[in-house]
Amino acid sequence: MKYFAEIENGTIQCLLCEHKCILKENAIGKCRVNSNVDGKLVCLVHSKPIAVHVDPIEKKPLFHFEKGSKTYSLGTYGCNFKCQWCQNYQISQSDISGLERIPTITPDDVVNNALSSNCTSISYTYNEPTIFYPYARDIGFLAKEKGLKNIFVSNGFQTEEVIEDMKLWVDACNIDLKCFNVKNCKMFTGSDINVVLRNLKLLAKSDIHLEITTLVIPDFNDSKKELKQIADFIANSLGTDVPWHVSAFHPDYKMTDKTRTSKETIFKAMEIGEKQGLKYVYPGNIW
Ligand code: SF4
Repeated sequence: MKYFAEIENGTIQCLLCEHKCILKENAIGKCRVNSNVDGKLVCLVHSKPIAVHVDPIEKKPLFHFEKGSKTYSLGTYGCNFKCQWCQNYQISQSDISGLERIPTITPDDVVNNALSSNCTSISYTYNEPTIFYPYARDIGFLAKEKGLKNIFVSNGFQTEEVIEDMKLWVDACNIDLKCFNVKNCKMFTGSDINVVLRNLKLLAKSDIHLEITTLVIPDFNDSKKELKQIADFIANSLGTDVPWHVSAFHPDYKMTDKTRTSKETIFKAMEIGEKQGLKYVYPGNIW
C-alpha cells in the first residue's frame, strides 16, 4: 500500500488518517511521527515501540474474540487526536526527541516475542495505531503467516484506503466511539466524529470482528440524550450483536476538573444500551 500522494515540488499528502496532512520536505504531521523525507512518507517510529506488554485480551477490551487468550501488545509515541482526558498522554502526546535511545524491535522480533510468550495475537494499542500503520502492517503480515491474529485498538479516524487495506490482515478491532456531538468532538479531541461513524459502518460490513468502547465522562457525553444517540447508532447502523463497553472515566491529563464517573452513571448507560436493543453491554473500570 502507498501511504501518501505526491503533490508537487517534493510536497506530499499523508493518506494514513483523515487529517490528510500536507507535508513539505522534512515537515512532520499532526501526529508528530510521520514525516516527509526526500519526498516520501517515513514513519519515524517504525520498529521503535515505547510500550510492550503481554495482556489478557479482555483488557483491550475484546470479550467476544479469542476469549481467555493472551495478546502481545505494543504502542509507540504520538497520536492524531488530542483528547483532553487521555490516559496514555505520556506516550501519545509526548515529543519524539529521545527516539534514538529506544531499542529497535523489528517486525520479526515482535512476532517471535509473541510466539515465545504464548500469545495467540498481536494488539496494536496504547496509542493510535493508524499513525504507525506501516510498522503495524509489516508485523501483521508476518504474524498472519505464523498463525497469529491481529488486533487494532483505535480511534477510528483512518482514511477509507487504510480501512480497505486493514481487511487484508486485521482480524479484530475495538474502536472508541467517544461521543456523538460534532462540536464537542472537535473541541476536545481535534477530530470529526462523522469520520469515525463512517469507518464504523465500513468495519461492521467487513469480516473484521468489531467491539466498541465509550469512555463515559461527566458533563461531556453522559447525558441520557447522547448515550441514547450512541446506543441507537450502534444498534441500528452496526448491529445489535456488536458489543458496547461503557467505561468509567478518571481525571487525567488536561481534564482534572471533573470527578470520576459513578457506578450509577455506568449502570444508566448500560440500561440505555439494552433498551436500544444491544445484546452485549459491558461495564468497564468500575470494580
Ligand atoms: S497519520 Fe499523522 S501525518 Fe498522517 S495524516 Fe494523520 S496526523 Fe497527518
